[in-house]
Amino acid sequence: MLRYRVPLVPGPTRVPPVVLEAFARDYPASDLEPEFATFYAETEDRLRTVLGTRNRVAIMTGEGMAALWGALKSVVGSGDRVVAVAAGLFGDGIGAMAEGLGADVTYDRYDPQEVPDPDRVADRVAAHDPAVVTLVHCETPAGTLSPLADLSAAIRSAAPDALIYVDAVSSAAGVELEVDDWGLDLCLVGSQKALSAPPDGAMIAVSPRAWDRISAVGYAGYDALGPWKDVGAPGSFPYTPSWHVTAAIHAACGLVLAEGRDAVIRRHEQVAARCRTGAAELGIDLFPAHEKACSPTVTALELPDGWSWDRLDRALRGQGVVLGGSWGPLQGRVFRVGHMGDQARMDLVDEALVALEGILG
Ligand SMILES: *Cc1c(COP(=O)(O)O)cnc(C)c1O
Repeated sequence: MLRYRVPLVPGPTRVPPVVLEAFARDYPASDLEPEFATFYAETEDRLRTVLGTRNRVAIMTGEGMAALWGALKSVVGSGDRVVAVAAGLFGDGIGAMAEGLGADVTYDRYDPQEVPDPDRVADRVAAHDPAVVTLVHCETPAGTLSPLADLSAAIRSAAPDALIYVDAVSSAAGVELEVDDWGLDLCLVGSQKALSAPPDGAMIAVSPRAWDRISAVGYAGYDALGPWKDVGAPGSFPYTPSWHVTAAIHAACGLVLAEGRDAVIRRHEQVAARCRTGAAELGIDLFPAHEKACSPTVTALELPDGWSWDRLDRALRGQGVVLGGSWGPLQGRVFRVGHMGDQARMDLVDEALVALEGILG
């Protein structure tokens, strides 16, 4: 199997040994044993601390997309009004998903080099009176981080009853995120980004008023959120929960909490700053329009003149460095350094910069 010395893909991220070990253990008791209920409750508690919430956090099995779809289908029905705030592929994609559910979707679109503007979002929301507003915290393909606290406050004052749905898959556990203080109703998290657990954990923090809407909408399906309101006791889960995935998330949150939430956030900021400075020294332009729009979890850079991504990627891999390309309209224009979770390390970013210098120089 190919392994790279310097893994800096923006997810799935490198999994630390203790997390891998927790995942790969043989769990003798089935999830029907009381031990699983205790373990699930402890994992949920850790996630609450990581996310800054007292809400229930559903720990579902599936990719990050399972969280995005499950939460959306659970609160959006045919004909419901939705405002999709979109400054990139995920923001647009969530709007398209809502359209697929028959919702009446209005977009507040931005150039992917920018982040959404709270005043403009508030105007759009006030004009459309939506049931749900969808946001993306970190637009991973563009390397931008939305001003989520300000956006959420603006939405709350423009439409107090609208639910705030946030894709925090590539920001949670890597940047400041306060679900309760910021009033986020549905906060969606994946296991394989800044948490650095294996893929297959989809976590959703659900506010009390989101639970009310979930029961009013009444969506039933494999990815429905409704049944997760009352999980815990043996036999209460809508399907067999994965002890392995739960254990990996438990261990991953344990690492974040042992290091300290603030220290983790600072580490991401420092590593991202180094990455931006180093790239500038090599004459590589940032993709986001302003440094303030940059995410601490992933840095998006313009491909240097005369370089295709395929050629740069091959040269980097030849030196044991693997970065991310991009897709959609940014393909062939942008490449990305994924410094999130266990990959938010100075030594990794420094090695990538040295390799880039050697290749481009
Ligand atoms: C990675 C990611 C997702 C989920 O994608 P999966 O790879 O299917 O887990 C959703 N939103 C954002 C912003 C992401 O970066």
